[in-house]
Amino acid sequence: TKAVRLDRLLANLGYGSRREVEGLAWAGLVRLDGETLTDAAQRIPLDPDLSARMTIQGQLLDPLPGLCLMLHKPLGVTCSHKEAGPLVYSLLPERWRRRDPALSTVGRLDKETSGLLLLTDDGALLHRIISPKAKVAKRYRVTLARPLQGDETSILASGELMLDGEDKPLLPVEMEADDATHCTVTLHEGRYHQVRRMFAAMGNHVDALHRDRVGGLALPADLEAGGYRVLGPGEIAAVF
Ligand code: URA
Repeated sequence: TKAVRLDRLLANLGYGSRREVEGLAWAGLVRLDGETLTDAAQRIPLDPDLSARMTIQGQLLDPLPGLCLMLHKPLGVTCSHKEAGPLVYSLLPERWRRRDPALSTVGRLDKETSGLLLLTDDGALLHRIISPKAKVAKRYRVTLARPLQGDETSILASGELMLDGEDKPLLPVEMEADDATHCTVTLHEGRYHQVRRMFAAMGNHVDALHRDRVGGLALPADLEAGGYRVLGPGEIAAVF
């Protein structure tokens, strides 16, 4: 296993500056397997179970780098610093916003879209999920302003629908009507505002949009809007 200096480990997890975390250790507030670690310069093997064995001020250590989370994104928060309004990161523990490597969203949801959003600090994982080659399916529940006309499923399946301002048609999209103004769509790519724009291209308007699946990973019914959960290796594997 890789080992890192205790001060660097804690500083990179957002516990404070090198000086501050040195103070924590010196004060006897850092423990590993029940033993107090007072020397911030000592090297700590990064065992996968370290977060279950180390405590800081009596609290279990935050998850090590290589972190992947699912968040139930509520309406009104943004995935991008370029948009006005609170960021999705404000829903996470404050310390997690100071992590290095930083957490970033795996793709984006619009400010007015709710549902399953993944976040990770693992750049390779991020690219594996968002890469067009991976074609990870994303499923959305759609509420429409006007009744479906009946031809939408075949138009979306055709692979011929063109969005305004683009020069390549959309990949085939699976659509199932749930009732006159509700449907479920599954995309295998992710163009800007794709769901809203594809219904606009068919003369309708999306009133509400909620993502409930990314690949084989579903938003759990008991994860309330604004809540998040750290994913285990099995759940991450379920995405692909
Ligand atoms: N399509 C959209 O239009 N918005 C989203 O947030 C996701 C997919």
